[in-house]
Amino acid sequence: MLTCYACGARAESGQRCDCGEPLWYETDPAGVAWPDADAGGVWAFESLLPVGRPESGLATAAGGTPLVRAPTLDADGARVHVKLEGTNPTGSFKDRGSAVGVTAALAAGRERVGTVSHGNMAASMAANAAGTDLDCVVLVPADIPDERLARIGAYGPRVVRVEGDYGRLYHDSLDVAGVEFVNSDSPLRVAGQKTTVLEVLAERAPDVPDAVVMPVSSGGHASAAWKALREAEAAGLVDDPPRLYLVQAAACAPVAAAFDRGDEEVVRLAPDEVGETVAYSIANPDPPSGTRALAAARATGGAVLAADDDDIGAARDWMARAGFRVEAASATPLAALGRLRDAGEIEAGEDVVLVATGAGYGDDAPPESVETVRREGLAGALRAD
Ligand SMILES: *Cc1c(COP(=O)(O)O)cnc(C)c1O
Ligand SMILES: [Zn+2]
Repeated sequence: MLTCYACGARAESGQRCDCGEPLWYETDPAGVAWPDADAGGVWAFESLLPVGRPESGLATAAGGTPLVRAPTLDADGARVHVKLEGTNPTGSFKDRGSAVGVTAALAAGRERVGTVSHGNMAASMAANAAGTDLDCVVLVPADIPDERLARIGAYGPRVVRVEGDYGRLYHDSLDVAGVEFVNSDSPLRVAGQKTTVLEVLAERAPDVPDAVVMPVSSGGHASAAWKALREAEAAGLVDDPPRLYLVQAAACAPVAAAFDRGDEEVVRLAPDEVGETVAYSIANPDPPSGTRALAAARATGGAVLAADDDDIGAARDWMARAGFRVEAASATPLAALGRLRDAGEIEAGEDVVLVATGAGYGDDAPPESVETVRREGLAGALRAD
């Protein structure tokens, strides 16, 4: 059973409510207890998922990512923990949603799954469908760069370049018969992706972090985080759930703009309101779950912020100096943390979880200072003085 968070309507199937807002799976958290921390990643929360644990394949490997205390990232007394989503099989939290989407499609006897993406979600869907009986269709923009095509194509999906307004394809795909589209905020994806925050809560229990800070683009992951908090509260597992802070790239920040204006609804940005950003994974000008993400930030006592590319780049470097190599989008939480701390949104002594949504290997420039020594001189060069 699916429900609409906004108007309370129920539906047997579909992705969006008649009111226009996205649907999510109704669950029954009564009697749910926290699983052991290492009990099987996403599938440790099987009782809160719309489908049971698969027997085999990549989908069994999603989730179970480390939560690492990172003192060098602390912000003026606020204690930072990093949820390292880059350790998922294809390098981002998207594997959580893809694992549930693919498993549910197989259980329902579907033959084809699909997604509208040219980034992490595309690679994740293709990988999770590979090695199963499902065919996978990935819709990419016609001008997709070769490196991206290579990364997705390696898993053997049917890749279709689509000409025309790529921004409208999400909606078009919902009308395609015969393909189970597991897009950014589909109910199956949101169900899988709520396990990011369920894992954090289970691992810290009985303590509860004070705040969770995460990037937001389509709003699928943020919606899932909110769903996780609602379920944990309904199950009686937390009394005082963490505040959700969502961060966008300033060049494409429709959710932050709506938050600042005090609006109830997120509106699509016009092309001349959208700029380029290093945070390429969070550049959706028309977020299908933007309004739900906005509601999540408000309902939990959090906020939505935007960070500019200079701050995102500096935060990304700073995270690497703490040992965490993440992609630019995943550095936005740290880029916003100082401001949240200065504004008193986050206080000294509070525990803050930064969700590092994706690994950032590969898109780097070489470091500026690398020394060269002769082999005979090595011991001398490394001698501590
Ligand atoms: C998809 C993605 C996001 C944004 O998640 P949404 O569910 O679209 O809001 C953030 N970071 C990374 C690395 C992603 O791949
Ligand atoms: Zn509704």
